[in-house]
Amino acid sequence: MADRDKATDQMKLWKEGRGSQRPDVLTTGAGVPVGDKLNLMTAGPRGPLLVQDVVFTDEMAHFDRERTPERVVHAKGAGAFGYFEVTHDITRYCKAKVFEHVGKTTPIAIRFSTVAGESGSADTVRDPRGFAVKFYTDEGNWDLTGNNTPIFFIRDALLFPSFIHSQKRNPQTHLKDPDMVWDFWSLRPESLHQVSFLFSDRGIPDGYRHMNGYGSHTFKLVNTPGQSVYCKFHYKTDQGIKNLPVEEADRLASTDPDYSIRDLYNAISNGNFPSWTLYIQVMTFEQAENWQWNPFDLTKVWPHKDFPLIPVGRLVLNRNPVNYFAEVEQLAFDPSNMPPGIEPSPDKMLQGRLFSYPDTHRHRLGANYLQLSVNCPYRTRVANYQRDGPMCMFDNQGGAPNYFPNSFSAPDTQPRFVESKCKVSPDVARYNSADDDNVTQVRTFFTQVLNEAERERLCQNMAGHIKGAQLFIQKRAVQNLMAVHPDYGTRIQTLLDKYNTEGKKVENILIKPYVKLKDSMNVKGSS
Ligand code: NDP
Repeated sequence: MADRDKATDQMKLWKEGRGSQRPDVLTTGAGVPVGDKLNLMTAGPRGPLLVQDVVFTDEMAHFDRERTPERVVHAKGAGAFGYFEVTHDITRYCKAKVFEHVGKTTPIAIRFSTVAGESGSADTVRDPRGFAVKFYTDEGNWDLTGNNTPIFFIRDALLFPSFIHSQKRNPQTHLKDPDMVWDFWSLRPESLHQVSFLFSDRGIPDGYRHMNGYGSHTFKLVNTPGQSVYCKFHYKTDQGIKNLPVEEADRLASTDPDYSIRDLYNAISNGNFPSWTLYIQVMTFEQAENWQWNPFDLTKVWPHKDFPLIPVGRLVLNRNPVNYFAEVEQLAFDPSNMPPGIEPSPDKMLQGRLFSYPDTHRHRLGANYLQLSVNCPYRTRVANYQRDGPMCMFDNQGGAPNYFPNSFSAPDTQPRFVESKCKVSPDVARYNSADDDNVTQVRTFFTQVLNEAERERLCQNMAGHIKGAQLFIQKRAVQNLMAVHPDYGTRIQTLLDKYNTEGKKVENILIKPYVKLKDSMNVKGSS
């Protein structure tokens, strides 16, 4: 049949393979063979049902418990498995086993996702994309829980729940609410950089294979002698960047809302394995002291000319999940999973996530979520003093002592794994970082990274969304954009004026730049 791909044919392919063998005997969850799975056990043909119908209660009671709570963010996603291979030596910066020598490979799991939508929402919406990688290393799991953008909307983790609430559903109407979205963004102008990325072409990537990934946060790398540097991680897609035009994304949202999951599944099934090249940027502690910006501010990038990309290796995805729930829905990433050689920086957003991610997993999946096969650090042996809890799946570390210290030859610490030292002596306080230069890098993005056609589309996309907010919120949003560049603010205001006065959709209105960008700065021209 035409129009059938590997994803569409999954059931047929399974039947031709594993399913072609003699079918297993149907059993209850306890393994007891079942004689009839089509008819309830009732007193007479018209009922009522008997409590002794354990075939029914076994089936129904399990069905009633089929869902783990949906992730509050990143609920809709796709996952796949593969490997990371070192192509360049970075042991002068980092002693982590994953970078041990050129040619070394480490198994990985990746989960891509949208952020704000529920697990049934469309894949082709304008939203950042999650790009989370789990490296199953020889010294425990390393989770680099990033996005397809190098920056984020906020720089202080205390704002995270409010930020996400503003992007999700109105508590009364249960609708997405542009007032909430733009009220928050315009009250917190540090969001301008990420918001500008979001409404640019890269706000709707064409599936998950054609986008870059970024560790986003600043991390610390430590080498064998114990010297440290700060670092950022970048994965550049080897498939090339591809984005969806707005009209195509809208069409797919109704005709194929699972477009990105399908695209990834089929590519891997067809042996067309997607890959990304991993780079790092490195900043010394001295550079960090003297840099014009806070190197731990998640709303900022490190410019490439000052901190060039250093190639490290290649990530390849070559296996689809065998079972989505077991291997993707239960796949749990945690930025606090860092093997020796990789440590956190003071980045306030990272520090907040070090708590929040494992806390979420303990709620969603239970205290023993690290025993699930997709999460367990299977390339090393877990040996600790944690015991018991719901769903304790293995031997619970048998008869080994469950307290430390002890005199019975149980797991002991190794001084070579102690974290690097760092000096901290400032006053403890709640420091206000709201005005920590929210505009300079956004201005560079608007005037120097985007060409004229891209700027025009960014403004159309953004104004088309702000128009849903109340006028006082629109005004505040435009004021913030004016501070980035008068041309940016004026283009948005001009489009909003049209929307507000005509009350109808503005399409293909070419907005004249307020100032001649090309005359005033080094600007890319139209493509
Ligand atoms: P560079 O010219 O050295 O780098 C520009 C970066 O922008 C490249 O990584 C490029 O990624 C990316 N880029 C190109 N087109 C777009 C687009 N339409 N949307 C989003 N990103 C795009 O400049 P700098 O390093 O000095 O950074 C200048 C500005 O570029 C920053 O203020 C930031 O806004 C943006 N940027 C910077 C990044 C960084 O880590 N330094 C990363 C991404 C964006 P690619 O090569 O994949 O096309």
